[in-house]
Amino acid sequence: LLGSVIYFGLIGLAVMGQNLILNGADKGFTVCAFNRTVSKVDNFMDNEAKGKSIVGARSVEEFVSKLKKPRVAILLVKAGPAVDSFIDMLLPHLEDGDIIIDGGNSHYPDTTRRCEELAKKNILFVGSGVSGGEEGARHGPSLMPGGNPAAWPRIKPIFQSLAAKAGDNEPCCDWVGEQGAGHYVKMVHNGIEYGDMQLICETYDILKRGLGLSIDEIVSIFEKWNKGKLDSFLIEITRDVLSFKANDGKSVVEKIVDAAGQKGTGKWTGQNALEMGTPVTLISEAVFARSLSSLKSERLRASEKLPGPTNKFTGDKQQIINDLEDALYASKIISYAQGFMLMREAAKEYGWKLNNAGIALMWRGGCIIRSVFLKDITEAFREDPKLESILFHPFFTDAIHKSQDGWRRVVSQAALLGIPTPATSAGLAFYDGYRSSVLPAGLLQAQRDYFGAHTFRVLPEEADESLPADKDV
Ligand code: NAP
Repeated sequence: LLGSVIYFGLIGLAVMGQNLILNGADKGFTVCAFNRTVSKVDNFMDNEAKGKSIVGARSVEEFVSKLKKPRVAILLVKAGPAVDSFIDMLLPHLEDGDIIIDGGNSHYPDTTRRCEELAKKNILFVGSGVSGGEEGARHGPSLMPGGNPAAWPRIKPIFQSLAAKAGDNEPCCDWVGEQGAGHYVKMVHNGIEYGDMQLICETYDILKRGLGLSIDEIVSIFEKWNKGKLDSFLIEITRDVLSFKANDGKSVVEKIVDAAGQKGTGKWTGQNALEMGTPVTLISEAVFARSLSSLKSERLRASEKLPGPTNKFTGDKQQIINDLEDALYASKIISYAQGFMLMREAAKEYGWKLNNAGIALMWRGGCIIRSVFLKDITEAFREDPKLESILFHPFFTDAIHKSQDGWRRVVSQAALLGIPTPATSAGLAFYDGYRSSVLPAGLLQAQRDYFGAHTFRVLPEEADESLPADKDV
């Protein structure tokens, strides 16, 4: 039924584009498909798209001519110059009020620029985060659209239909905000994904190297945790990937070179945090942990020259396994608190009105960081949309309080055993810094003043004639 009235086009027939088109066809839309290398259109039409409400186009002109007005053209091509190139090719054929959507992993300043340039030409531009990989695109991704708000009424039914649905059938897609807000939120999502993955890897390392558990024992632990407060896609896939066995019976994971790659969205989050002066320490440590892992040959040399502690774990294994669940949960809370803190600062900087409950809802289903935990964040922000930090909501204040003893035991135990826990430890250091009414920054200011005459401010209660109080304190 929808197919007879709504029609959109999608350019980019790689893995994401093909799957999103098939998702659209399943939802009843008629979708027009195009790709730079036209043979891929023919191939797609003859195979995956056969018998579905999908039509192919063999040129940009034909693609545009097939679209219902106002036209909706989604780009799912490699981020960067390919997006600008397709915008330039589409423009001569579009009319006022037509919509171009970039669903790739574009950097948010590019999206802001494209929005502004296209608004001058009366074309509505949207930059949308799309998460969930191939499976998400096929069956329901998390969609984070932002840009020209005039486009939202036209694309809302398409986007909310394509998107994943959270447990209570709410679409994991809502309007994020103006300019590059959608791609900004996707960038933070990817940063959080880096953090979640690193936290899980640190936990696995302690279970394996610290406690000497077998892979099968670790699989059972992740299996159990996935039924509790850590229930999430990433815990679930960790259980699954650890279960894959090679021909010799060893876990495939143990055979994979321990040097992690990265495409850059985690790095963008860390860079942006530094630019904003916002302490997003856990995600930044997760990015650096990948960089450190990639120095494989240097690490091999270091492993022969730099001794660590000789301690072996001698405590209660079940206790530390329970502690690890708490440490992972508490660190995860910190990571999300930092992510929302960064988005809060970006909203101030760029004048965006970000809807935090909506963002948490968008991440609840479809995407890589989907979890039960995001339901609690959605509820916290729904209850108090002005919540300064999730750490101030009673649910999370209590959750972190209950977890902190175990969290501290894990960080100290890992240090004693010489097992690196950069993200877990960074989370705890942030928590202790954040909850400290007094930090040693007074000494730091005095040092700065001593060598650079940077001046300092004096606490009102400590002021006298020689050290006058600063009125701003
Ligand atoms: P991709 O490998 O990033 O890009 C391939 C597509 O881009 C092809 O259609 C290709 O056309 C086109 N392309 C590349 N360079 C071009 C250029 N200079 N001019 C015009 N077209 C060009 O594809 P993908 O993995 O499906 O990802 C699409 C977008 O979604 C990317 O921005 C990606 O970062 C983002 N994303 C990917 C995932 C994922 O799991 N893969 C998840 C979320 C978001 P030809 O066929 O002609 O080469």
